[in-house]
Amino acid sequence: MASKTLRWIPLGGLGEIGKNMMALEYGENVLVIDTGIMFPENDMLGIDYIIPDFRYLLDKKTKIRGIIVTHGHEDHTGAIRHVLDDIQAPIYATRLTRGLLEVKLNRGPALRDQKLNTIQAGERLQIGPFDVEFFHVCHSIPDGVGLGITTPAGLVVHSGDFKFDHTPVDGRPTDFAKLAELGGRGVLALFSDSTNADKPGWTPSETVIDSAFDAVFHEASGRILIGTFASLISRMAQAARAAERHGRVMAFVGTSMIENAKMARSLGYLDVPDDLIVSLDQALKMKPSQVVLMCTGTQGEPSSILGRLSTGTNRQFDILPSDTVVLSSHPIPGNEEMVNRTINRLFQRGAAVIYDPIAPVHVSGHARQEEMKLLLQLIRPKHFIPIHGELRHLKQHAALARQLGWADERIAVVENGTVIELAEGEMRIGERVPGGYVFVDGSGVGDIGPAVMREREALARDGFVVAYLHLDRASGALLGEPKILSKGFVFERDADRLFELARQQIRTLAADPSNGNLQARVEKDLAKFFYEETKRRPMVFVFSSVS
Ligand SMILES: [Zn+2]
Ligand SMILES: [Zn+2]
Repeated sequence: MASKTLRWIPLGGLGEIGKNMMALEYGENVLVIDTGIMFPENDMLGIDYIIPDFRYLLDKKTKIRGIIVTHGHEDHTGAIRHVLDDIQAPIYATRLTRGLLEVKLNRGPALRDQKLNTIQAGERLQIGPFDVEFFHVCHSIPDGVGLGITTPAGLVVHSGDFKFDHTPVDGRPTDFAKLAELGGRGVLALFSDSTNADKPGWTPSETVIDSAFDAVFHEASGRILIGTFASLISRMAQAARAAERHGRVMAFVGTSMIENAKMARSLGYLDVPDDLIVSLDQALKMKPSQVVLMCTGTQGEPSSILGRLSTGTNRQFDILPSDTVVLSSHPIPGNEEMVNRTINRLFQRGAAVIYDPIAPVHVSGHARQEEMKLLLQLIRPKHFIPIHGELRHLKQHAALARQLGWADERIAVVENGTVIELAEGEMRIGERVPGGYVFVDGSGVGDIGPAVMREREALARDGFVVAYLHLDRASGALLGEPKILSKGFVFERDADRLFELARQQIRTLAADPSNGNLQARVEKDLAKFFYEETKRRPMVFVFSSVS
């Protein structure tokens, strides 16, 4: 490696929405930025969530100088425990982000040696050879930061998740002056959030939600249930203020919602009067017209509060026909089907359900095209690398930069695991490192590889067939009739004919002693036979016993 080469290693968040994680490497020093998770798409069977494949960092353990977490959303914080299991490095986060990390870390077994450091926007901190300046960015959670990082190879800027909202809920817009100041110094590379790159114009200010909430509260005669993410602290504040304006009290429902709200209130990020907040038990005893319930579950997750309410399986309370349910968030790409199912079920139970686009009860926390262009113009980076987004978003973000005059060779659209090297003012695409999925389910981390996922998919799609053979111990000849049964494969009426043909097939194979391992042959042959007959691929298992 040439001297003064800064290496950038994207480990997650490129080519997908979620599990954001990257590393900067200079010589013998590594700085990690974000440790996010991604929620599985509905065709990922039995998977709870997905974390980045950070194998690349494992043989650099002693070189990792720090982990910066830019803000408190799950797609930036969610994998922190998994990362700390393998890597001991100090963590840097703002007060609220740190609070959310602590809630998360306190939930499982205690971790040794976790070093959490509080930073704030406007501060400057030397972490190894990285001179990091934190600047405030406005997003759908307070206390988010972007980063200006001066390295011996040059200055790079990371936008964090950002939007340019002039009237944000917490009153703190993005720090334009700092962006312009960084731009004035000459920026080697900009890494910028691409989530909304296919949306023209500006993202509306979060204040539009206030009037949408007012309209809903005005109409509602019964309880109001507001569903959002447990980490969307700004939305909790807006809901609380709307409750106050309309003479209602509010209760938080669900463990993560309650814990995050408590922490945010104690740190002063959720500024609501004490008498506005009641416990769920208290709320359930009050008149429906006096309460607002703040719940999790806007992504249709079956185990969330709204998910359980929609299926009538919530323990403490049920949906009432007079309830108004407000979904104050957008489905994450891939979750649309599950969200729509939940909405339909809530309607079925008699509730009125309000969601965007019926009313603007949610706005994005991410910049749209005009904001992205403004950031590019403020920073004027020599090289531009779109991050945070599916490939279509990254490509579109790159197209915007080209419209503004950036030449192709100054833009790099890459996916997870593609290293980019910056040296002597130039950019080049480096080698590939692991950057795939690590699945986490109930049983553990990473035990579920692509092979297991393929098996689960095959089982879900085409079911399975079991064949049982009884063989003669001495000759290996087939004794009696092979038994065949299936689940999830073919309709019973068709099974009789099909399985009779399959049994014939087995008898033919068994009759030819040159066939070697009969069990393996039957397995292979039946799989082929079923595919030819049905164009489906059930998993085939063959058992045998001898006597
Ligand atoms: Zn975010
Ligand atoms: Zn994000």
